[in-house]
Amino acid sequence: MKLTIHRGTKEIGGSCVELTTATTRLVLDLGLPLVDANREPFDSRAALAKPIATLQAEKVVPAIPGLFDADHPAPDGILLSHAHLDHAGLLHLSRPTVPIFTTSGTSKMMLAAAVFAAQKQLDRTRFREVVSQQPFQIGDCQVTPLAVDHSIFGSLAFLIEAEGKTILYSGDFRNHGRKPGMIRDLLNHLKAKTVDVLIVEGTHFGSEKEQGHTEYQLEDRIVELVQSAPALVMATFSALDVDRIVTLYKAAQKAGRVFVVDAYTAFVLYLIGRQAKVPRPSKDMGIRVFFNHLFERRKLDNIREKFLADRIELAEVLADPTKYVMVFRPTMVEFDFKSQLPSRCRVLYGYWPGYLNKPDWVELQKQVALVEGDFIRAHVSGHAYVADIISFVNSVNARTVIPIHTFEPQMYQDHFPNVTRLSDGIPFDVG
Ligand SMILES: [Zn+2]
Repeated sequence: MKLTIHRGTKEIGGSCVELTTATTRLVLDLGLPLVDANREPFDSRAALAKPIATLQAEKVVPAIPGLFDADHPAPDGILLSHAHLDHAGLLHLSRPTVPIFTTSGTSKMMLAAAVFAAQKQLDRTRFREVVSQQPFQIGDCQVTPLAVDHSIFGSLAFLIEAEGKTILYSGDFRNHGRKPGMIRDLLNHLKAKTVDVLIVEGTHFGSEKEQGHTEYQLEDRIVELVQSAPALVMATFSALDVDRIVTLYKAAQKAGRVFVVDAYTAFVLYLIGRQAKVPRPSKDMGIRVFFNHLFERRKLDNIREKFLADRIELAEVLADPTKYVMVFRPTMVEFDFKSQLPSRCRVLYGYWPGYLNKPDWVELQKQVALVEGDFIRAHVSGHAYVADIISFVNSVNARTVIPIHTFEPQMYQDHFPNVTRLSDGIPFDVG
């Protein structure tokens, strides 16, 4: 069996792995790069406007025979770990004959992101739903999807068994989210197995954040931040980060405030309401839905209808600001608040801190200061802290450990004796 990491051996972003046996070819993830060769932010919009031949020449699109071209036999399937763009962002360019195996949760996250964030939906004709811990066969490969906790709903690791070898691909994961039982279940599943190759993400290697807080500790902190806020609390974070939606909801409840979500967040809760323990976006659950200007402008009547009964107007929020915690998008400053944020508002920032230097966020912090509000970082990472990666790798106890999704692959060797470092695009013989 041969294993090729097409992208990700020395960067975070653009993850793509290929596995080849005598009869079967699988692709794991097909992501967009996040940074260019100079580690500057990758301009995905500009890149995707180019023809595919240019993208191939620029090595944005990995060279996998038959995945984009019809001159070779197509791979037998794509295993998609989760819906973040750095794992799923090139899927729509791949040949429509190649089936995509992923969770219904990931398919729903892609639908919500397509409606609200101009991303691509998962093609229904290519979607093959898989369920955690339920093995299935593609050619001579047995694939077992294993649920992992990450900052987007529906995430998976994949276990692949073929030609007498066992490979575990971690995808993106963490052990400090709202569902630490997921990693326990995954490790239990591996108990009777010998893993030959573990391909494991190392986002946090080399960052100052070797150890950090859990999502539950964040909830406690947000309760305090809401209780001590003199006026409206506004939370900005990814609507696909369902853990964070629940954290904010619970914190609002504990602090005695109503949680006001936007239509994007409400739609995510609606989509997964049947399969996950999440609050219904409704008045009786302590949630109201605000239709912001950009949403109203798009006339998405079928979505609007679902939340009409639980709708709240901005005037109602502003008349009694200490009653609410409100989901906030930076575009609302101009379109809904008419360039004047509510007096003494407290903005809770729930994204990666690296974005804060971007002009939009710098401007927003100025706007908050103008109304004597405060802008507070309230976030925990979607990726495992270094101590948790180490304990995970030790528990899996694979024969060899291969770095992926990291800027510091050499740091794996400081922690593990059996590291094999690959280079992008160079096949590795698993044996
Ligand atoms: Zn991710």
